[in-house]
Amino acid sequence: MKEIIFLKIIDRKIPADIIYETEFIIVIKDINPQAPIHFLIIPKKQFKTISDIPKEEFFYFSEIFTAIQYLSKTIPKADQYKIIINNGEKAGQCIFHLHIHFLAGF
Ligand code: AMP
Repeated sequence: MKEIIFLKIIDRKIPADIIYETEFIIVIKDINPQAPIHFLIIPKKQFKTISDIPKEEFFYFSEIFTAIQYLSKTIPKADQYKIIINNGEKAGQCIFHLHIHFLAGF
């Protein structure tokens, strides 16, 4: 069940390379990297897409952008980067648990 892969990683039921973690988000290495550096920033709460974060929980945006800045400032060769979010199947989303692709090291 693809939908719950990230929850399994968060719960330490399956392994992943964890780069950064807070109470609300986790950052892991993508298993199939599309750039020399390819991380996934994942809210620990399962929102299907970015549109599914309710206003009361907009602090997740702050958590996500804090992680982006942390990665860009601390990971070597990650100061220039792309962030990509696929929202919906037709937009290329395969795992329906919101995640932000962080690509760098070009
Ligand atoms: P998306 O197409 O935006 O839903 O992206 C899903 C991403 O999750 C892909 O880049 C996959 O390579 C990645 N992925 C799938 N399973 C794992 C896993 N177990 N650990 C790390 N990354 C994964």
